[in-house]
This record gives sequence, C-alpha cells and structure tokens, in this order.
Amino acid sequence: SKLVLKDPDLFRQANRVGAEWVQAASGKTIAVKNPATGEVIGHVPSLSREEVRQAIEAAQAAQPAWRGLLAKERAAILRRLFNLMMENADDLAAIMTAEQGKPLTESKGEIAYAASFIEWFAEEGKRVYGDMIPTFKQGSRILVMKEPIGVFAAITPWNFPAAMITRKAGPGWAAGCTGVIRPASQTPFSALAIAVLAERAGMPAGVCNVVTGSAKEQGEELSTNPMVRKLSFTGSTEVGRTLLAQCAGTIKKTSMELGGNAAFLVFDDADLDAAVTGAMASKFRNTGQTCVCANRIFVQDGVYDAFAEKLKKAVEALKVGNGMEQGVTQGPLINADAVAKVEEHIADATAAGAKVLTGGKRHALGGNFFEPTILTDVPVTAKVLKEETFGPMAPLIRFKDEAEGIRLANDTEFGLAAYFYARDVGRIFRVAEALESGIIGINEGIISTEVAPFGGVKESGLGREGSKYGIEDYLEIKYCLIGGV
Ligand code: ADP
Repeated sequence: SKLVLKDPDLFRQANRVGAEWVQAASGKTIAVKNPATGEVIGHVPSLSREEVRQAIEAAQAAQPAWRGLLAKERAAILRRLFNLMMENADDLAAIMTAEQGKPLTESKGEIAYAASFIEWFAEEGKRVYGDMIPTFKQGSRILVMKEPIGVFAAITPWNFPAAMITRKAGPGWAAGCTGVIRPASQTPFSALAIAVLAERAGMPAGVCNVVTGSAKEQGEELSTNPMVRKLSFTGSTEVGRTLLAQCAGTIKKTSMELGGNAAFLVFDDADLDAAVTGAMASKFRNTGQTCVCANRIFVQDGVYDAFAEKLKKAVEALKVGNGMEQGVTQGPLINADAVAKVEEHIADATAAGAKVLTGGKRHALGGNFFEPTILTDVPVTAKVLKEETFGPMAPLIRFKDEAEGIRLANDTEFGLAAYFYARDVGRIFRVAEALESGIIGINEGIISTEVAPFGGVKESGLGREGSKYGIEDYLEIKYCLIGGV
C-alpha cells in the first residue's frame, strides 16, 4: 500500500522557503497518516516561529519584482502552473487520497477544481482595472489605481487540501502579491506538490512559500507580523475568531471562510428525485466533510415520508472503503475525533426521540470508517441543528409551511450555504431572498465553481473567493488627485 507515483519528486517532505526546500533547524517533524489505514505516509518539517518569519521575509523580498511584472507575464506563469496541475492530476489525486482519504474520483475532481482557480485568476489578473472619476475641481483629475496589497498569508484546512490553497493563492499571485501558505498538518503534501509545480512553472523564488508546523505558533506569527498585509483563512469559526482578533493588532485585511450549518429544504412542490440527488451530493460528498454540506435537512409534511424512503435507497447504495479502491464512494473520516462527533450527534438526537432509518454506527471496516446514516423525526432541539456534524449523517426534520421552513433554516448563527428544492417560481424568489446565507443552491446540490463568489454571511465569515470578486481581496485602492492640469 505504498504510495506509487509516476513522478515521485512531487511528494516533498520539506518546506519551501524562498529559493530553498528546507527542514526545521530543530530537526522536528510531523508524521502524516493515511486516514484509511492509519499508516504513516511521510513526514513534514515543523518550522519554528522564527523560521516562519524567514518565510514571510522571503515573500516580502520577492514582492517588488513580482508586482513589477506585467500582468500578462504573471498570467503566463500561472497558466503553466494550471497546465502542470492538469498534466500531473493522477499523481496529485493519489497524494490527496493518501493523506485525506476521499475517493480517488473525488480527488481528481478536486485537482481540476483547484487548477481552475489558477486558470481563472491568470485571466482575471489582466483585468484589474482602475477608474478615472469626473473631478470635483477645475484644473484637476481623479485617478483610482488598484495595487497588490503585499504579502498574504493563507491558512487552510484538511478537507480540500489543494483547492483551498489555489482559491487563495491564485488571486493573490495574479494580483501581484507573494505569499506564505500554511496547509493543515493532516494534509500538507498536496500543498507541497503544488509548490513543486509552481517552481517548475517558472514562478520566481519567494512568491510561493509553504510552511508546516504548530498551528498556534505559526498562526500567531502569520497574523501578527506587520509584513503580512492580508490573511486568508478557511477553517472553523472558533479559530477564525482568534485569527481575526490577532489580525486586529496590525489592521490586516482578512478573508474568513468559516463554519457552516447548511439548511437543505425540500418543499411539497419539489421534484423529489432531483432533491434526493442533490441531498446525496450535498450531504455525502467528501464523507460529509465540507463546510457547505447539508447539515440540516428540512422536509415539508406532504413529501416527508416519500423523500425519506427515496433517500434511504440512495444512501444504502453508497460504498464505504479505502478511497484508493475502485467503486468506493465514501472514504474514511479524517480522524478518531471526527468519528466521535458523528456518534455524539446521533446519540444526542436519538435520546431526544429521533429514529435511525439506516446506518447509525461505526462501520465494520473499523478505524475511521462510519456507516452513512439517516435519522428521521429529529427534534428541533437536537445538537445537530446547532453545530456541524461534518460527517455522513443526514438528519431529517419535518416542517409544515414555507414560513416555518424559512424560520428554521435561519435559526443559526451561521450563513454559508443553503439549498432548497421547489418548482413554484414565486416560492423560489421568496425563499431565496429570505434565506440568510452567502450561497444558495436552488434545485442544485453542488454549488462550487471558480466563476462564482464563494463565501458566507453572519458568523460564517468575511469576503468572497473565486469569481471577479475574489481578486478584490488582494488589492488596495489608491486614489490620486492630480492638480495643476
Ligand atoms: P478544521 O476543523 O478544518 O481542522 P480548524 O479551524 O481547526 O478547522 O483548522 C483549520 C486550519 O487552521 C488548519 O490548518 C489548522 O491547523 C489551523 N489552525 C488551528 N488552530 C489554529 C490557530 N490557533 N492559529 C492558526 N491556525 C490554526
């Protein structure tokens, strides 16, 4: 079960700082495990705070030359990186499945999705237009320029080991910024492989730095070092709050993609088969470990039983196993804590009267595997309505009418994604407008794409990633008043 790659050089057990591939001076490393087997697949350095500072300095040193290139020149390098990611998709996907656990087909999908941000922003970088504003004063002109903000830091989670890197670094690099990337300790090899390809694409040293090590120490340095002008984070609301507070000291611009608690509503007028397909995609993709996974499935009275029955059939057709194996659709959870959380949510809901329609316990495969689960008659007081399960458990909650559905869906401090299935066009507008959420899937369960803005409202975060909006977070506006004309 050793990781076999066409190009073993992509598997880098080192960090990228400036022009060097480095180890920690202390010699400290972190072991990375395959969540499907528990085997150690490799080690990455655990850089000290001082070494992270050196990475920030390398990024700062690379700034003038990188921002000084023509946008078209940066775009050419990014385009080469996109091509290299696609050409090496099989290896990148194998690395991802080994460290993250998701089925190989999902890993391949993520590599294409990750590469798409590099492609998109290579193009968008050429269209960072300023403004000429009609002046307020004779003999003067008003010019507005957009400039790269400077060094960015990107702190990313383990659930999308490649896409969360490129969704941040893509617009950053395209805008003319240089950066320091800190991937999650569970999944560092995908990020390091991208850094290998960035080097091959001709990206100058210092533009792409990747560090691994203690989250708390490195996070403190990245969020307090005055050279870092922008911090982009994807992860939990709890950690986001801490980073935001730490960024306050040096007034950094931030993007925060935080926790979700997505509502998925099925109305009486929905196409039920489509709703089942959407619910399966939204709930069970990545074994339920995405921040836009349906966490609360609200089904209207008139279709509740029929929907539950159809969903049960679909869930029972899922195949649980090692993501490297053909036909597997559900990989393991990331670790034992993740398994415990699913178990806890099921115990809490069933104690309050919920029934297990299918699944409900650890999988016979053992380890981090869990049975895809549906709970019915889940009371609105259950824990799962308040916090993300982040696992393969679909709780079905009954509602009576549109107003109640909307009220239940909005009854959370989060607001990242929401989904609903309905055919009535009036209802589609009413519900879309009423849901407090940054992203809404209407008769669709998969909403992620590089061409549309991804991000949340309320405590789900700040800023938007992807689309024409995504590059704005890496730009500063400079207003010049020119007199004496
Ligand atoms: P997740 O549930 O996705 O692991 P976290 O918010 O715990 O969510 O982690 C997201 C990323 O933030 C990971 O890379 C993690 O290592 C990092 N992280 C965790 N704690 C801190 C911290 N105190 N400061 C900076 N980064 C942190």
